[in-house]
Amino acid sequence: MSSEQPSLFELLPGEELYRQEKQVAAKEISSPFLPGIKVEEAFPGIQEVALLEELARNCNNCRLRSGCQQVVFGDGDLKSRIMFIGEGPGKDEDEQGRPFVGKAGQLLDKILVAAEIPRAQVYISNVVKCRPPGNRLPNPDEVRECRNYLEAQIRIMQPAIIVCLGAMASQVVIDPKASVSKIRGRWFNRQGVKIMATYHPAALLRNPSYKRPAWQDFQIIRDEYNEVKHVPR
Ligand code: URA
Repeated sequence: MSSEQPSLFELLPGEELYRQEKQVAAKEISSPFLPGIKVEEAFPGIQEVALLEELARNCNNCRLRSGCQQVVFGDGDLKSRIMFIGEGPGKDEDEQGRPFVGKAGQLLDKILVAAEIPRAQVYISNVVKCRPPGNRLPNPDEVRECRNYLEAQIRIMQPAIIVCLGAMASQVVIDPKASVSKIRGRWFNRQGVKIMATYHPAALLRNPSYKRPAWQDFQIIRDEYNEVKHVPR
């Protein structure tokens, strides 16, 4: 074979990363953060967000990638002590490549302004990184695949606070049976991380009676964030 001719077996950039991280896997395994995760499947060899993002951009592990425009991996300050987690990108997010930029995102922005938490200081991501067609809920198999990226984001970024926006994030992060109205507004502690569930901004748009309890939650979140925002990892 000539040197110009690419080998049939040549690895694409994403596959090469995947191979490298598999080699490191199984060595530095600790307990997973998210319920139901197998640590060895959550990219244990990857220690940098940029590499993880590259893997996600090359991911075809579920059907969602073929139906969306782009992978919406996450957005914000990678060193932030607070991470917000939503469900999955919608149409606007799929077009712009950033989470929470549509109507729900604009409401989240307003809540953050009211709570005096600058959006530029936080990190925002989703349970699934690719838009489900027609904005349907992600299927369980899609969530099972994609939550490995979320697990790795949490492991690498080490937020002090995680805010679960809505039922999907609460069930993936806190408890598979979680109901937001039952568990919202109080802290769960896991591996030194404080986790709170609150209503998804889209739910606030559909049901304005959720706005008051959501604001109560954000006041608690704001106070805790002010405690930890300058505490080094
Ligand atoms: N809803 C979500 O859950 N995530 C987004 O990024 C946008 C809307």
